[in-house]
Amino acid sequence: MFDNLSDKLDKAFHILKGHGKITEVNVADTLKEVRRALLDADVNFKIAKDFTSRVKDKAIGQDVLTTLQPGQLMVKLVKDELTELMGGDVAGVNLSGNPSVILMSGLQGSGKTTFSGKLANFLKTKKGKKPLLVACDIYRPAAINQLHVVGDQIGVEVYSEPENKNAVSIAENAIKHAKANGYNVVIVDTAGRLAVDEEMMTEIANVHKAIQPQETLFVVDSMTGQDAVNTAKAFNDRLNFDGVVLTKLDGDTRGGAAISIKSVVDKPIKFIGTGEKMEAIDVFYPARMAERILG
Ligand code: GDP
Repeated sequence: MFDNLSDKLDKAFHILKGHGKITEVNVADTLKEVRRALLDADVNFKIAKDFTSRVKDKAIGQDVLTTLQPGQLMVKLVKDELTELMGGDVAGVNLSGNPSVILMSGLQGSGKTTFSGKLANFLKTKKGKKPLLVACDIYRPAAINQLHVVGDQIGVEVYSEPENKNAVSIAENAIKHAKANGYNVVIVDTAGRLAVDEEMMTEIANVHKAIQPQETLFVVDSMTGQDAVNTAKAFNDRLNFDGVVLTKLDGDTRGGAAISIKSVVDKPIKFIGTGEKMEAIDVFYPARMAERILG
């Protein structure tokens, strides 16, 4: 995960680690390399620039040149800043409702349906919950089938109404069904389009308004780089979602989305998807991710 970024940051710190006497120029060169590494990882220019200027301020504040191991201190400053940028504290998922309703949003192909299954499985096996999955895609019958396949795989019931073309009423009926049958979590998988469009946004905004979920998650493919950040912004403007799910982190992603998304929409990354299997879900820990990137 993020091997390229890790390598480049490692190289950046070589400048500091390799010198007997560290000068201001060495520190500046290191920060320049850090910035370049972030840009190469698809982090937006302004975020990368602000990042290095904050690290620089801290390095000056802590008198980095006079410390015994300036290289190590710089790595720590960058690690702390990276943790902060990716979200600081760990954010949980709100399960306070009865049932707790979780609405999934995102573009088609982002991994919504797969993640809905993963989350249901996670809540069932790790949190002892009784989840209900809801197929709310009124455009693609294949999407409904796909959720049924996922549900069968993990032993979770899937609620669907293939003849009903009103997403709001399907979601409302599903919640009634959950209440009547003792389900304590309802995960609503919605329709996605290949790009942000008005019709889709209005539909999901209507579902959101009608069912008032405890948790609205935005699912995004981390491989889409800066586009992931732009899509997040468009969805957040309409839904004011609670958290982000970054999928496909097992692939050849450069990591820019993971690093930038929090600072653009000010919402935490809550989960990551790391494969196609139902078990490939992890709670997102910013500090652990920073540790992984910087080694
Ligand atoms: P949706 O259209 O948003 O519901 O997306 P899907 O759940 O159908 O996922 C689209 C494709 O991405 C499928 O082939 C999934 O198997 C794959 N996929 C989803 N999540 C992950 C992940 O975390 N890692 C990998 N490698 N593939 C994933």
